[in-house]
Amino acid sequence: MRKVSFGAGAQFWAVFVVCGHCALCRCSAAEADFTAARRRMVEEQLAGPGRDITNRRLLAVMGRVPRHEFVPTDYRAQAYDDHPLLIGYGQTISQPFIVAFMTEKLEPKSSDKVLEIGTGSGYQAAVLAELVSNVYTIEIVEPLARRAEADLKRLGYTNVIVRAGDGYQGWPGAAPFDAIIVTCAPDHVPSPLVDQLKEGGRMIIPVGSAGDQDLYVLRKKGGKVEKQAVLPVRFVPMTRRKETVPQP
Ligand code: SAH
Repeated sequence: MRKVSFGAGAQFWAVFVVCGHCALCRCSAAEADFTAARRRMVEEQLAGPGRDITNRRLLAVMGRVPRHEFVPTDYRAQAYDDHPLLIGYGQTISQPFIVAFMTEKLEPKSSDKVLEIGTGSGYQAAVLAELVSNVYTIEIVEPLARRAEADLKRLGYTNVIVRAGDGYQGWPGAAPFDAIIVTCAPDHVPSPLVDQLKEGGRMIIPVGSAGDQDLYVLRKKGGKVEKQAVLPVRFVPMTRRKETVPQP
């Protein structure tokens, strides 16, 4: 009987092809898990009873944006769970419901230009980027700003501009804004942000100290500002100087 020999090289390629195929399977299985977790997040944590997020465009966007791509690898399995997660430098990515709640209150329109203070992971900016025309976002921790910028670029978000700096002053060069979202808590509403809001514009901002914060919706009408408390919350404080920022 004739013996068929593939030779060492052929064996190597056979092993490589088989393993490569397995790796791909694992990867697409993980993606399918993330997709299913994201769907559950939307149905149970956002649109579900007691949560009542109703903006359909927003629900569709949050069912699409890959939140797991914005969290450290060690926490990816928890990316769609109902709580905030650590992202390094003592900072957090907000709970999905809080992202949805704040975004819904901004009443985002596809022609809007939006300013975010507190880029963090870049996830909130990505959600906004799918709903509005342009997003400007400022992060005081420079390495977080650079990481979020890289992640947003890698995922194809071309309508977001990230700046490292103190967001208290807003972004005068790009003002006025249709909407402003602040995802860190100052002890008062920064007046530069109010000045940079368009007539008819909306702002959502947590205000207060560590144990005593409320989320406020502000609306500029006829040059005046209406302010309404909508939810007790717990956000990281708005820091003012780079040297006060914690290390990773
Ligand atoms: N929106 C983020 C969550 C942000 S957590 C996300 O989707 O992941 C709040 C962020 O605000 C932190 O990263 C913190 O470093 C940042 N921050 C605190 N004070 C700030 C300031 N004065 N200007 C800009 N960013 C600030």
